[in-house]
Amino acid sequence: SKTNQSLMQRRMAAVPRGVGQIHPIFAERAENATVWDVEGREYIDFAGGIAVLNTGHLHPKVVAAVQEQLTKLSHTCFQVLAYEPYVELCEKIAARVPGEFAKKTLLVTSGSEAVENAVKIARAATGRAGVIAFTSAYHGRTMMTLSLTGKQVPYAAGMGLMPGGVFRAQYPNALHGVSVDDAMASIERIFKNDAEPRDIAAIIIEPVQGEGGFYAAPKDFMQRLRALCDQHGILLIADEVQTGAGRTGSFFAMEQMGVVADLTTFAKSIAGGFPLSGVCGKAEYMDAIAPGGLGGTYAGSPIACAAALAVMEVFEEENLLARSQAVGETIKAALREVQNKHPVIGEVRGLGAMVAIELFKDGDPHQPNAELVSQVVVRAREKGLILLSCGSYYNVIRVLVPLTVPDAQLKRGLEIIAECFDELA
Ligand code: PMP
Repeated sequence: SKTNQSLMQRRMAAVPRGVGQIHPIFAERAENATVWDVEGREYIDFAGGIAVLNTGHLHPKVVAAVQEQLTKLSHTCFQVLAYEPYVELCEKIAARVPGEFAKKTLLVTSGSEAVENAVKIARAATGRAGVIAFTSAYHGRTMMTLSLTGKQVPYAAGMGLMPGGVFRAQYPNALHGVSVDDAMASIERIFKNDAEPRDIAAIIIEPVQGEGGFYAAPKDFMQRLRALCDQHGILLIADEVQTGAGRTGSFFAMEQMGVVADLTTFAKSIAGGFPLSGVCGKAEYMDAIAPGGLGGTYAGSPIACAAALAVMEVFEEENLLARSQAVGETIKAALREVQNKHPVIGEVRGLGAMVAIELFKDGDPHQPNAELVSQVVVRAREKGLILLSCGSYYNVIRVLVPLTVPDAQLKRGLEIIAECFDELA
């Protein structure tokens, strides 16, 4: 019978090392918040396929919708022969994305592709080419999104310079000494030093940074950013690929920011484990690109659309936004207890169920404790819990557990984290 070790050996020989792997495990099957590996070991899944499984692994409603779709058609290419689920999903997404204006929605396949298209749309709508992105941002691994992503190693290392016209502003981060004023000043500095506002098509921001470490943008920063964009005719792009589909306690995180974006990208949990992403925005901007300029062979696949429509129904039926808030509170309360015992945890933070802890040495925010993070991730796995780290310095542990996780299992997962700190910290 197959073992993780034998499969790892085949993987090493067959798959390039650039495709990293956090856990040396081969999954066999999964259900809601539980995963079983090829050796029959059971794990509690706090990673959720990196923010893809807010409705859990193989939610029965999602499975049923996909099975039903598979009895009809799996592919036509929407640009050749259209199908209703694509249109219905665009209508439903537009109703969910904040903003009291007419919207249109483009469907594509990955988060990176959504961001690529948001930039293309902003460029066409404004006739400008520059984009401002933030420190420690993550927007993807394609060429343009690598320009936007604020972390060279490992994402862009060895690949040379990425496409130009991207300017880096500071993401506000009180914990690390970047105030909202500092962050605003960094944009003014770009305008003075690097590119005039009339050359900037868009500012792209994650309302809560994901890979960068689960830092939420302060509401007043988002409001000042919106005002600045309005002043200069710049489009505001909210990258909700990780924050979207209910993770932060609202369907989109921007609902909590008091201002709206011109363009919103979404992916990951929107289709409950099937590849689907998109851009939703003001209709006039979304129509800036002429027929033929948007799309893709698999873009908005009928299977993925059926899954996404089911995900949106599940959110209603199971009241998952309230659940997201409750799960977030439970996680924060448990992790604060661990923090009280273990001051190595410098901060417990989160918006809704997008919760993380950041580890320091000697209580000093300038000394990231990546070593302990990787030890905890390994020890937790040995105890049957799958965790993920993040952060520019790899010193953050994040929780992306399915919102549908049973209470007892959530409690057990949090206990394992506490045990790991008792043993290692
Ligand atoms: N934007 C954000 C905010 C993300 O978190 C990610 C994925 N981690 C992406 C874009 C890229 O998505 P994908 O990996 O599906 O291309």
